[in-house]
Amino acid sequence: MSTNVSDIYGSLVFNEHVMAERLPSVTYKALMRTIERGEPLDIEVANVVAHSMKEWAIEHGATHYTHWFQPLTGMTSEKHDSFLDPISDGRALPNGGLRATFEARGYTAWDPTSYAFIKDEVLCIPTAFCSYTGEALDEKTPLLRSMAAIEEQANRVLALFGEKRRRIDVTIGCEQEYFLISEEQYKQRLDLMLTNRTLFGYAPCKGQELDDHYFGAIRPTVNEFMKELDDELWKLGVPAKTKHNEVAPAQHELAPIFENANRAIDHNLLTMEKMRLIASRHGLVCLQHEKPFAGINGSGKHDNWSLAAGGRNLLEPGENPMENLRFLVFLTCVIEAVDEYQELLRMSAASAGNDHRLGANEAPPAIVSIFLGSELSGIVDALVNDHESEYESADKIAMDLGVSVLPAFLIDNTDRNRTSPFAFTGNKFEFRMPGSSQNLSETNTILNTAVSKSLKDFADAMDGLTGEAFEKAALAHIKQLLKDHSRIIFDGNGYSEEWQAEAARRGLVNLPTTADAMPALISQKSIDLFEEFGILTEAEVRSRYEVKLEKYNKLINIEARTCKRMVRQLYLPAIADYAAEVAANIGKVHAVSPDADLSPQEHILAKLNRGVKVIDDLLIQLDETHHRVRAIPDQQECANENASKVVPLMDALRAEVDALEIVVSANHWPVPSYNDILFYA
Ligand code: ADP
Ligand code: MG
Repeated sequence: MSTNVSDIYGSLVFNEHVMAERLPSVTYKALMRTIERGEPLDIEVANVVAHSMKEWAIEHGATHYTHWFQPLTGMTSEKHDSFLDPISDGRALPNGGLRATFEARGYTAWDPTSYAFIKDEVLCIPTAFCSYTGEALDEKTPLLRSMAAIEEQANRVLALFGEKRRRIDVTIGCEQEYFLISEEQYKQRLDLMLTNRTLFGYAPCKGQELDDHYFGAIRPTVNEFMKELDDELWKLGVPAKTKHNEVAPAQHELAPIFENANRAIDHNLLTMEKMRLIASRHGLVCLQHEKPFAGINGSGKHDNWSLAAGGRNLLEPGENPMENLRFLVFLTCVIEAVDEYQELLRMSAASAGNDHRLGANEAPPAIVSIFLGSELSGIVDALVNDHESEYESADKIAMDLGVSVLPAFLIDNTDRNRTSPFAFTGNKFEFRMPGSSQNLSETNTILNTAVSKSLKDFADAMDGLTGEAFEKAALAHIKQLLKDHSRIIFDGNGYSEEWQAEAARRGLVNLPTTADAMPALISQKSIDLFEEFGILTEAEVRSRYEVKLEKYNKLINIEARTCKRMVRQLYLPAIADYAAEVAANIGKVHAVSPDADLSPQEHILAKLNRGVKVIDDLLIQLDETHHRVRAIPDQQECANENASKVVPLMDALRAEVDALEIVVSANHWPVPSYNDILFYA
């Protein structure tokens, strides 16, 4: 099926190339000014684009169109409208419904920085979704605002370096991890179907210890899935680049080539949707939950982040002293931002699913820290302590702006610490906390806004300085900032217990659950940050907080109900059945061989009977607690109780059921085991 990539790439996208071909040249130029420089879109221009977009879509087989947007709950939303208007004589005419899309005061506003595309015969128009009073009702609007904020502040900093104003791109590469399992087994697991994760299941005999899945060949079914996925994504202009098996059995990853934040996130959401859809055509189910299986790796979504000015990466050390000073300024501003707003960043990765992943197998802990790598840490050290550290050129760094040495150091910054939640990887930062099921808009909105704040403070402090005075002041400022924020830098093993203690000593926050993390969103400091840069008003922030908490509480409620249902209707009956069979067998054997030693069977029977009792007791406790907690009207309080009482009770119940899974005969067990699910075909 795979054809030449360049033949199909972007064939279903109304991109720059198509627009250049089809739009009158004045319209095209005006639109490009909007896309590239953020100039307001004139209604006349918009109407011409709308018309041309519709013609193009119909020529390419589209029958419907939709305003494709990112609601606060769920991933993407669409309501299809037909292009057709039936008229009285039985014919139908294409309608002009697209026009509403471009009306600035409207409910939905076209985001011209992300191209329209055709998906399943529907023209999808990426849209920002606002109320008539201008309140952001979606994830894209604040993201776009944060991109504008960072563009403004980054340009102020670049101006200090004598650089002219440029378009600033936030560049993002979202690595997407996921599991693929057989649909047949999926359908036999109520927990997977309703909660996207297994609420029960004893560890498989073989886990990920051999690394054979990671390095092994991709299985044929999975390969077919990946090929089809690539083809479909390429047609949609999604730069899917790398696909491979991941560490856990049945786990895989897709990494795209980085793009501007807005497009990268739209493309990630499209990728996730296509994965789910295409899996179903291959008898597979794509699980995007952060922790579908206990005891093996969960799935994350690494947010690779950098800034580019006119296409040039600002987190890349340059070739001369000024360029390296510029690099150090941007680097330091990121470090300051991450330390200052660590709670908010942690909050942005909080979800019911990610609570099971963070701090578990091969996932960063719930504590934010930054990994710089030994070379860069050495430089920071030298700057902070004004002394010659283990790097012989450290005094030079301090004296002539640390410059000549940087490139050689960093080019090969390959010792990557996989245990760090926020790692500098040569020319970008990689935020590894976000979970696989997440929309990365909020994370990047926060990151962009926090960095805007540091850049603004820097530019304010340097106001009016030029030449050598600026260089001196800038270096002194960086040194002070690095001193103030050095606690966030940690190159050691983030998975270790010592780190938890050390982080506490350093005053870094450790917020293990969503319930713990959410209050950071509505702290005065956060609200001030969002308001200072016009990203969200206090009312908007508070409503987001409520929406997220409510979602968390609803998910836990569904999990608790599913958990109870499975125990009552599947596990307890199966265990009781098996116990009855063992008891009957003991009687039968004894009747024939009165002298036989039946203690092993009796032992099993005792275990089963004891287990049923313990499970039943826990079930009653869970039932009572669940009913009490879900009636708590205050969402935060409800979340606190869910995290501290309901989830631990579900875990306890699980442990008891799992313990009996390996006592009860496989024939009696009512659902497929981890062995069945993780090693199909
Ligand atoms: P890993 O070892 O974590 O798999 P890769 O080298 O494969 O890392 O890159 C991970 C992601 O980082 C890719 O999506 C890549 O496009 C992205 N990336 C590379 N450079 C940048 C950049 N300057 N800004 C943002 N993302 C980037
Ligand atoms: Mg990565």
